[in-house]
Amino acid sequence: MSELDFFGHIIDGAEVESVDGGRFDVWNPWTQEVWAQAALGSAEDASRAIASSRKAFDDGPWPRMGRVERANAIHKLADLMEARVDDLARLDTTNMAKPFAQAKHDVARSVWNFRFFADHQRDNVGEVYPMDSGHHSYSEFGPAGVVAAISPWNFPLMMASWKIAPAIAWGNTCIIKPSEDTPASVTLLGRLALEAGLPPGVLNVLNGHGAPAGSSLTGDDRVDRVTFTGSSVTGKHVMASAATHLAPVSLELGGKGANIVFGDADLDNAVYWAVEAIFRNSGQICLAGSRLFVQAGIWDEFMDRFKGAAEALTIGDPFDPATRFSALASRKHFDKVASYVESVELEGGKILTGGVDDSGKWLVRPTIIADLPLTGRAYCEEIFGPVCVVNKFESEGEVVRLANDTRYGLNAMLFTENLSRAHRVASKLRAGTVWVNCFFIRDLRTPFGGVGDSGVGREGGNFSREFFTEPKAIVMQIDR
Ligand code: NDP
Repeated sequence: MSELDFFGHIIDGAEVESVDGGRFDVWNPWTQEVWAQAALGSAEDASRAIASSRKAFDDGPWPRMGRVERANAIHKLADLMEARVDDLARLDTTNMAKPFAQAKHDVARSVWNFRFFADHQRDNVGEVYPMDSGHHSYSEFGPAGVVAAISPWNFPLMMASWKIAPAIAWGNTCIIKPSEDTPASVTLLGRLALEAGLPPGVLNVLNGHGAPAGSSLTGDDRVDRVTFTGSSVTGKHVMASAATHLAPVSLELGGKGANIVFGDADLDNAVYWAVEAIFRNSGQICLAGSRLFVQAGIWDEFMDRFKGAAEALTIGDPFDPATRFSALASRKHFDKVASYVESVELEGGKILTGGVDDSGKWLVRPTIIADLPLTGRAYCEEIFGPVCVVNKFESEGEVVRLANDTRYGLNAMLFTENLSRAHRVASKLRAGTVWVNCFFIRDLRTPFGGVGDSGVGREGGNFSREFFTEPKAIVMQIDR
């Protein structure tokens, strides 16, 4: 047994090795060292996890439990997470170089995901439709079955909890496959679920690669729902695989968010959020404001301030409390982001600040690009890194056209003090979420998801209820 930390699968109430004993290395991208190992899931391990969740759904207490009792069990898990905030955050920081304060913030949001959906399923049991014909109709939302959830590495715990929480709250059983880059915090979550007393198989954690571990889940006809967050390319594979057994899918995919700053914006606020939108989490956010549009009249002042704020971000060890910005999540991802930065000048763009760091770290500094043609790769494609391409615009109509000219449509931001313009432009933007004078704020009751290559379906509040349940209509004659 090695001295490295080990993250097994959580299957049927126990933490286990893979059937064949296979393991893979888990990296710390800041130190560039292997710090742990995780169980390398095979098709056989996936099958074992599905059989366990199937049994827990078909024969176990969880789907049959009262709503209050189920809510209480999930709140107990949330309590345990709160008691282990530092441990959960430490795992995400070690695993993907997210600054520790941001990782703690993610844990708090993950806890809230569980608490929100625990209460939501308790309080939103169905709807009543009195009928003029002398009948009475009502709806019920019963659990759908076994949920396969596949989550990415950019918000390891938070994205996983966003899927697990509604799935189990609505009485389903769930198998989560975290990204192979970030297995740690989700495995600890699985351990905490056992400590909280969730019955075996209600939450199984399957570690391993997208294929075969992830693809063995999505293609198995014992799975009733597939929820996935990741790249648009993989999303298409996941959808095709789920289609072989007609499992509904919810896909949250990539983005190329437009961030629009009008001449009448509150500049302090707009600069603050422009920095957050592209440099938080080193830009590894599907919602990133990676295409920034600045109205001509404020270009010089805004760009000075934006550049200054980007250069002022403290870069360093993610565990140092002063650090606001750190390394990218893996060597592979660093290579990808660096290749985009290297394409910029070849394609006619100018790097105003930032670029690939030459220290040997997997670090791309907060990077701002101007003068890149609208056909440039860095402008058109999702980079998923701290790279912001800025363009000047003159009119409202022009910027709406520019913002909507993308295959993606996850989100957009706009900054203006003009109330009519705020509503008008928000309504015209082709995106699942539009933030006005802010970014990243969520109300979990609202729909979340994207248009076009950014995804299929919506989650959040009753939208999650639709996806994670089998709604049923019951019609009863009242008058004879
Ligand atoms: P992927 O889309 O490949 O991975 C996301 C998740 O899907 C991971 O858990 C992955 O596992 C799993 N997966 C991969 N292939 C399959 C498959 N055939 N069946 C089932 N599950 C699968 O993203 P990457 O991590 O490779 O990142 C590539 C790019 O995707 C990024 O550069 C970024 O542009 C985008 N991305 C977008 C995210 C978003 O929030 N919308 C999140 C992450 C990435 P494994 O990690 O083991 O391969």
